[in-house]
Amino acid sequence: MYHYNSYRQYLKKKFGTAVLKIPLSGGFSCPNRDGTKSSEGCLFCDNRSFSPAALREENPKAQLLGIIDKVKHKYHAFIPYLQPFSNTYGPVERLREVYEPLLDVENVVGIAIGTRPDCFDRDTVEYLADLSKRTYLSVELGLQSAHDTTLIAINRGHTVNEFASIVEKLAAYSIETVAHVMLGFPGESDQMMMDTARFLAGLPVSGVKIHQVMIIQGTAFEKLYNDRKILPLDLDKYTDLLCRFLELLRPDQLIHRIVADSTIEHGLIAPLWSAEKSKTISHIHALMDANQRVQGRFFVSK
Ligand code: SF4
Repeated sequence: MYHYNSYRQYLKKKFGTAVLKIPLSGGFSCPNRDGTKSSEGCLFCDNRSFSPAALREENPKAQLLGIIDKVKHKYHAFIPYLQPFSNTYGPVERLREVYEPLLDVENVVGIAIGTRPDCFDRDTVEYLADLSKRTYLSVELGLQSAHDTTLIAINRGHTVNEFASIVEKLAAYSIETVAHVMLGFPGESDQMMMDTARFLAGLPVSGVKIHQVMIIQGTAFEKLYNDRKILPLDLDKYTDLLCRFLELLRPDQLIHRIVADSTIEHGLIAPLWSAEKSKTISHIHALMDANQRVQGRFFVSK
């Protein structure tokens, strides 16, 4: 049964073959960690756990070539994905230095750039517009919640309006954007999470990455968890929230992810079902099948 508009399938159709997205470290920092906005970062942030790419020290092209060498027997199309930290945080010359060499690599069909909504100036947007004419470009923006109260509580350091504004600017150049959101922040009601879905459905956001709030060792969330100020979602509750969220999105919005995974070795504390990704996805799909729940079912155009 069809569940949602899968990004993986979209890429396969677009490029005529399975495409592997390869996480790389671009060596950028983040204004929410380097003291510009704050030094503490988002309360859930631990890039070492969120992305093995954050630990790589080679230059991005060397990282990419090394990974392609290991998987080239299986895949013939690749999208380098600058994932950890904020990969538009720097002058355009620096962005060029990091991005451009990746495009020359054989069988690279595009580039994905992960960043924050407050890391753009006019030059950056113009450069990305130029880049998008030369290759497939996807810009991934952390939003997490469409409520400023939550963004303040988790120390995001940017506003919901900043997110909406950069999405509109990039969409004006037909650049694909992806919103990252999480379900299960402390203080968020079910209704607030559904408001985030409606907010995204009303913007020219091309794709959405959704996952559960996880408690990772060494993050500020670990302390809140120990103080019983965060209660991680159990799998049935998460599945229900996720289905309701998907039902409110537009049918055309691409779904990049429906669950995140980590391991105890990488510092996962809770919820422990996060360590069993394929089992969790099967569980979610089975529940969607049983109840005929599909993306866009309750989308209302304004
Ligand atoms: S924006 Fe990303 S890298 Fe920066 S503090 Fe937040 S989660 Fe960490």
